[in-house]
Amino acid sequence: MMLLVMGRVRSRALGGEPRDHANKYLEQLSNVFTSAGVNVGDVRKALANGAAGLRSYIEAAIQGPEPSDGCGDGQLIIDLFGKEVRVGPALMRSVVEGGVSARDGYKTIVSALDDYVARLGALSMDKEQLMTTLLTIGRLVLSYVPYSTCGVGSGISAYAVMHTAAAYASTEPYGRFRLLGVDILGIQEVIGRIQRTGQAMRQLRGRSVLVNLFQNAVAVRIIRDVNRRVGSDVLSPINVLVNTGGEVVMLIPGLDSNVLDYVINDIESKVNEEFEGRVRVVVAYTGIHDIGNRFGDVLRELVAALGRRRYGIWRRFSVGGKHLCSMCGMPTGKLSVETIGGEELRLCPFCHYSHRVGTASRRLGFMAELRDSGGYGGCEVIELLGIRYAVCPDNARADLGREYIHYGINEFQNPILRASNVGYSVLFLNTRMPISQDTGDLLTLEDIGNYAISVKADANKMGIFKKGAAERGAAAYLFFSTLLTTVFDAYGPWLFTQNLGRYGNNVFIIYSGGDDIFIAGDHRALDYIARVMRRALDFGISVAAGALIHEPQMPMYLVWDETDERLEAVKDVSRDEPLIYLAHTGSAPIILTPSDVLEVVDYVNANTAAPPGEYEGDVIGKSLMFKVGEELTNIYNMLYALYALARQGRCGSRNELVRELVRGVVNYTYLVNRNRDRAYAVINEISSNVEPGRLTNALMPILRIRDCSEYVRSRELTELMKSLAKAIMKIDLYRKISRQT
Ligand SMILES: [Zn+2]
Ligand SMILES: [Zn+2]
Repeated sequence: MMLLVMGRVRSRALGGEPRDHANKYLEQLSNVFTSAGVNVGDVRKALANGAAGLRSYIEAAIQGPEPSDGCGDGQLIIDLFGKEVRVGPALMRSVVEGGVSARDGYKTIVSALDDYVARLGALSMDKEQLMTTLLTIGRLVLSYVPYSTCGVGSGISAYAVMHTAAAYASTEPYGRFRLLGVDILGIQEVIGRIQRTGQAMRQLRGRSVLVNLFQNAVAVRIIRDVNRRVGSDVLSPINVLVNTGGEVVMLIPGLDSNVLDYVINDIESKVNEEFEGRVRVVVAYTGIHDIGNRFGDVLRELVAALGRRRYGIWRRFSVGGKHLCSMCGMPTGKLSVETIGGEELRLCPFCHYSHRVGTASRRLGFMAELRDSGGYGGCEVIELLGIRYAVCPDNARADLGREYIHYGINEFQNPILRASNVGYSVLFLNTRMPISQDTGDLLTLEDIGNYAISVKADANKMGIFKKGAAERGAAAYLFFSTLLTTVFDAYGPWLFTQNLGRYGNNVFIIYSGGDDIFIAGDHRALDYIARVMRRALDFGISVAAGALIHEPQMPMYLVWDETDERLEAVKDVSRDEPLIYLAHTGSAPIILTPSDVLEVVDYVNANTAAPPGEYEGDVIGKSLMFKVGEELTNIYNMLYALYALARQGRCGSRNELVRELVRGVVNYTYLVNRNRDRAYAVINEISSNVEPGRLTNALMPILRIRDCSEYVRSRELTELMKSLAKAIMKIDLYRKISRQT
């Protein structure tokens, strides 16, 4: 199945029959297939019989008739987010680097495919390792290549078809399938519970990594436990369609429910025991379906089953420990004590694991599932659900002889190493945090300045878009998750490492899983999130963000709640436009687009690098700037009040407000005129839009508004508020920064 899709893509660069190319790949891979127990003769026969036998699986994956190939320009058309975007054909790496404009062409795609096949062909490995490695190749090379170049085929990723059709095909002996889902609960809640600021960064960083491993461990355990109980390899990594951001969806053969129940109960209770409910896992599955059944319907059934299961677990579970964890504050019956810098930490199992992983992963290099017990040089070894993982810093050397699966982290360059009996996978993890040049330990927010900015971001309408993808079939659903990984989990770390000078010492990626992001730092945290939001928008994804400027000592759980509230508030303003809730003046929120936020940050950057020359060290200059800021804030508040009145339909006090607004502008003009040259120097630096003459002109159409409800729709009002908001934020952030330097 997978060879056929690869052969099809190869024929686009080299001409000829897809089947012949598939055969060529088969010959190159015959040794590794044989070592994995795959009968090469059978595969050859299946290819010789042509696509006919496999067509039903392709058609199940794309939920429609097999499209023909050989027309169109070979780009992938993405329209999952209500906007059509053309991308590729390109390697995943190119899409991470170049966004929607990435174009590699089929020559590059096919030469990458040929290289990987040649590498893999020289190795030997078991079936689980082989499938893992083949999927890695497919994901990196074929995600942004269309399955077909004609009609609807251009809208479906070749990798997504290859993976999902192979999953359908794997159900063959049973003829029918189920969906099985895993929900990891409590991932975000554990972050919101962190009570202390000291050690918090290490803890948080450890959690991001741990959650990924944990999710992986659950999927792996399901595969292996089911195979053991059935007594044959009915499941493999091919059955895992989605494995990101706390969600696992598997398409599996119509196995007996007794087998599944046994495995699931065992895993669920082991997790709950191990982590005392701090992080919980629920597993549920659907009834048995024909492969022709609509994927969206079956997925809905799965979601309902997970919901019921979650409720059951919630009721069953209660924590009965007598100690309180000093990190998350929850009771625990299994306390571990760690001493760091003379400080004693009493930790529950989950916080303890996070702490250890956070320590090992100052600069994450790779991870590995180990075959044996014992330490692994320079790495932290942890056991999750009986699976032993090594978490290794980037200076650790891989001892491939001891690894079962090697996980490259954000690895595009060289995912397949030259050792046999290892499977090769890639994880995209966004976990960068600044470390001290001297001690090599993680910095804290206090280390980077007298104030901090934290931002919580989340994409709008994801639930709706995801359902829409599911309605189009399993391949579209899988691609949806691949795209989120590309835009967030893979682009995030790339953006960071490309701009180490900007972010390396100032931005903490506290949590990042798919479209959910929580970061902190100085003003450059805003720069980072604004760029991520712009990239997402290129693909049609609108991301909302709530920011908070706060003292670095503020407890993490308070910051978390506050940014979360702002995130919700900004989503109420618009779910179509990406917006950042940046600050609150005391009477009005300041909400800006990513591009406006970048303008503000650029201003702050320029002026902290080189303070305004004329007024360097001049107290009067600075204080004048802040007075300008106060007057502008006053005007902004009044404009917002007008808008808010109109929105609530309570226009009674409008005339009074308008009078105050005019008075505010008069005061501002007076302030500027009194300090003429120096005031204009300040204004020219901040924004010519707030020069009194222009401000008055911008205000005129707003003052002329007769019908109060007009304020809500007035473009002039929105534009003026935006100009003011940018100016206010420039002054405010500059002030905070200049105070600390
Ligand atoms: Zn804890
Ligand atoms: Zn989300």
